[in-house]
Parts: sequence; structure tokens; C-alpha cells
Amino acid sequence: MTRRKQVYEGKAKVMFEGPEPGTLVQYFKDDATAFNAQKRGTITGKGVINNRISEYLMLRLAEIGIPTHFVRRLNMREQLVRQVEIIPVEVVIRNVVAGSLAQRFGLEEGTPLPRSIVEYYYKNDKLQDPMISEEHITCFGWATTYDLDDIMQMSLRINDFLLGLFHGIGIKLVDFKVEFGRLYNEHDEMRLVLADEISPDNCRLWDLKTNEKLDKDRFRRDLGRVEEAYQEVARRLGLLTEGTPGDAPGDVRGPTTVQ
Ligand code: 5GP
Repeated sequence: MTRRKQVYEGKAKVMFEGPEPGTLVQYFKDDATAFNAQKRGTITGKGVINNRISEYLMLRLAEIGIPTHFVRRLNMREQLVRQVEIIPVEVVIRNVVAGSLAQRFGLEEGTPLPRSIVEYYYKNDKLQDPMISEEHITCFGWATTYDLDDIMQMSLRINDFLLGLFHGIGIKLVDFKVEFGRLYNEHDEMRLVLADEISPDNCRLWDLKTNEKLDKDRFRRDLGRVEEAYQEVARRLGLLTEGTPGDAPGDVRGPTTVQ
């Protein structure tokens, strides 16, 4: 991973120049951060699992007509994506009270919401991703009202689809965060596409029966068995093969062999 030109390094991923113009290679690290990077750690094999989970979910979403930046998975830790202009807005969709929603309103975690809530946060680590409204987004020129209509529609569609998909494997999709980017074609026409990743790093996933947390909250809250939780999500999605780690193309259990 050293010979290619690095274009960006985030907390959980590195972006490299891709093999063709307009593409990037998205590399998934095992690094984990929480609470605005005040808590740092490593979740062994996380990058391998998230690469695979995100590939699977992006492909499934593309099948139902959600445009995404994903092109193809290259290897255990890397995927080829289209280069997009990231909109600096984190879109959070919530189905059940948890995390900052519970804190902000003094609500009990686990309470189902009567309808899904969509929230926007300004993607800015230095400012600790402050919550924003449509007014801020349009006033500061991060997106137009048309873009926001599109983003809201896609987010709710993604939520509907993922709710069903996870329910089918005994998982409650409590909430999640997505990001969108602008993709331009050769005629300079723009369309918004789903970017970044969808994985247990940016979703809250609870076991349907026991409410056991199967996501990054295990790391954030020091609940232990973090690696196992990520693996369990991959296993239920059918992405883990039985047998020796690393012995099959789709196997995500060989993290130590790939860096
Ligand atoms: P909360 O606002 O409750 O902390 O987070 C809501 C949901 O969005 C959670 O599923 C959380 O994982 C995700 N989320 C919010 N902000 C971020 C972020 O900056 N990074 C990641 N990876 N996920 C986030």
C-alpha cells in the first residue's frame, strides 16, 4: 500500500489514487476511534470485515436503485470506488432511541420511535460534528434544497431496505450514518451517490431477541468481544465461510495475513 499516492487518510480508512482517472482505492484499517478520537484502539480484523460487509450492502442497495460510489472489491482490505466530491454532511437515520438522541432528550435507550428520524451533522472533527438543520446546509452552500430532497429520499429508502435486510437475519437496525457525494459524468452532469461505507462502525445493530450490541458501541463503551460482534454480523449476512481462516475468496477471517 506504500507505492500508490495517498489522497486522504481518515480515522478508519485511507484513500489512494485509483488505477483509472476518476477512481480511488478505499483501504479499510483496523483502527477504531470514538468520542471525537479521544478514545483510540484497534479492532483486529475490522478492516477486512467492514470491507466485505460494506461491499455486500452497497451491492444490495445498488440492486434496488440506490446509486453508490462502489465499483468492486479488490482484495481483503481494499475496494475500488468512484471519486466523488463528498458533501460535508453526515446523515443519521434513527429507528430506535440510542446514543446521542437518548442523551440529548433524556430518553431511554431502546425505545422504538413512532417514525424514523433523519438528522444532519456537519462533518467536521475539530468542531465535533455539530448537529445542523437544512437551513445551515443550504445557507452555507453545502447542498441545495433539491440535493436535500434527493438525500432525504435516498436515506429513507436505504433505511427501509436495510431494516428489512437486517430483520431477516435477526438484527434490529437501531440507527446508522451515511454520507453522500457528487459524481460528475463526461458531460459534467452531476448526480448524488451514496459514498463512504456501511458497516458496524457506523450502524447500531442489536440482536433482535436479546438486544445484544453487535456494533462499534462495544468498543465505545468497553463492552468487550468487539471483534466477535463484527464477525457475527458478517456471519449472519452469509459472508463468513466455515473452515480454515483465509481458505476461501470470500473469507473474512484471515485478517492477520493481509495488511
Ligand atoms: P449518535 O449520534 O447516536 O452518536 O450516532 C448515531 C449513529 O450514527 C450511530 O449508528 C453511529 O455509529 C453513527 N455515527 C454518527 N456519527 C458518526 C461518525 O462520526 N462516525 C461514525 N463511524 N459513525 C457515526
